[in-house]
Amino acid sequence: MKKKLSLTFPRRLVSEPITYKLIKNYNLIVNIIKAKITPYEEGRLDLEIIGEKNAINEGIKYLTDLGVSVKPLIQEIKWNPDRCNHCTVCVPLCPVSAFEVDRKERTVSFNDEKCIACGVCVQACPYRAIEIVF
Ligand code: SF4
Ligand code: SF4
Repeated sequence: MKKKLSLTFPRRLVSEPITYKLIKNYNLIVNIIKAKITPYEEGRLDLEIIGEKNAINEGIKYLTDLGVSVKPLIQEIKWNPDRCNHCTVCVPLCPVSAFEVDRKERTVSFNDEKCIACGVCVQACPYRAIEIVF
């Protein structure tokens, strides 16, 4: 199975080889999505981990026992209507039809409740009206 996690760890753990231990001790594949680690400050690490369910759960237990805060990573998609020029490029690309076209008004609107945060539209929008927020 696969899980995306957001880790926040205190200053004392900034130099701890967390990803190395997840790989070596729990046989997990670890992809770093985003890292913000500064010496002597709190660290933030967003990861995707892949492995057996039990191994993932044990890896998460290792992190929490260590004092790391582990939360599911939620990628939020923000649509900026002020930047949108209603070009409709994003509409056919969205796998869950989160963009709706009002043909009469010739406008596009975004339904964030449908969005599964796949990110396809973010790359495609020529006006940078869509962004991913972690
Ligand atoms: S691609 Fe961008 S500018 Fe075009 S309709 Fe979609 S959000 Fe608006
Ligand atoms: S991120 Fe993916 S699911 Fe969400 S609106 Fe864009 S294309 Fe659709």
